[in-house]
Amino acid sequence: MRALSGEQFGAYARVQIAAVEQILARHHLMRGGDCSCGRPRPCSVAQSCAQTRERYRARLALLEQTAAWPRVRAVRAPTPRWRRLVVALFGGGR
Ligand SMILES: [Zn+2]
Repeated sequence: MRALSGEQFGAYARVQIAAVEQILARHHLMRGGDCSCGRPRPCSVAQSCAQTRERYRARLALLEQTAAWPRVRAVRAPTPRWRRLVVALFGGGR
């Protein structure tokens, strides 16, 4: 079995989330308290789809969290006052 790259898994997860959201759209609370599919609440299909969606969302969040950070340049700290004074009195040469 071939492992998916992060980008491939991200695309796969988004397709899975879209699929379960389409299913979830057909399972909503009816006036009598049952699910629109006819099952009593909590509907097992709706629960399973919601769990699947949350699982993929959590994995996507981890994937996006580990994205490369932008490179930043190091900032040089200013020379401390005492060092400038030592250099002024005794020279900075070694
Ligand atoms: Zn249902």
